[in-house]
Amino acid sequence: MDKYQQSQKNKLFSPNRHDPTLSPRSAGTAVCPRCSALYQAGSWAWQTPQASLPADVTEVVCPACRRIEDKVPAGTLTLSGEFLKAHHDEILNLIHNTETLEKAEHAMERLLEVTTLDEVVQVTTTGIHLANRIGHALDSAYKGQTQYHYDDDQTHVSIHWQRD
Ligand SMILES: [Zn+2]
Repeated sequence: MDKYQQSQKNKLFSPNRHDPTLSPRSAGTAVCPRCSALYQAGSWAWQTPQASLPADVTEVVCPACRRIEDKVPAGTLTLSGEFLKAHHDEILNLIHNTETLEKAEHAMERLLEVTTLDEVVQVTTTGIHLANRIGHALDSAYKGQTQYHYDDDQTHVSIHWQRD
C-alpha cells in the first residue's frame, strides 16, 4: 500500500468511527483482516465460499471488529429480577443462540460482551438489530417487562428487561 492509499484508508472512517452509516467511501471492495467480512456494493457481509477477491483488495477493519476492539457497543441490554437468578444459564443460552442466528444473516451484528455482576446480566452488541432481537426473544420466551430507549441520533439502544 502506498502513501496515497494509506491516507485514503485513514479517511474512510473518520471523523466518527462509530457512525454505522459510514463505510468505505470508495466504490471498491474491501476485506476485514480480523474477521474476513467483505465490503462490497455498499455493505458488509460474510464472504461466500465461491467468492474470489482481487489480489490487491484493500484491508479495512470492519465496523463490528472496531466496536469490539474499542469496546464501543451499539446496543446495551440490562437484565435483572428474580426470574433471571433462577434461569441464568438458560437465558444466556437464548442470548448466544440469538446471536448465532442474527450474525449468520448480518455480519455486523455480533455480541460484544456478556457479563454477570451482582445478579444483573449486561449484554453489549455491535449492532442495534441484535440488541433488539435479543430483547424481543426474551420478551416472547419469558414475558417480563422490556423497555427500549434510543439515543437521539438512533445510533445506540439501551434495553432493560426485568422479570420478578
Ligand atoms: Zn471484521
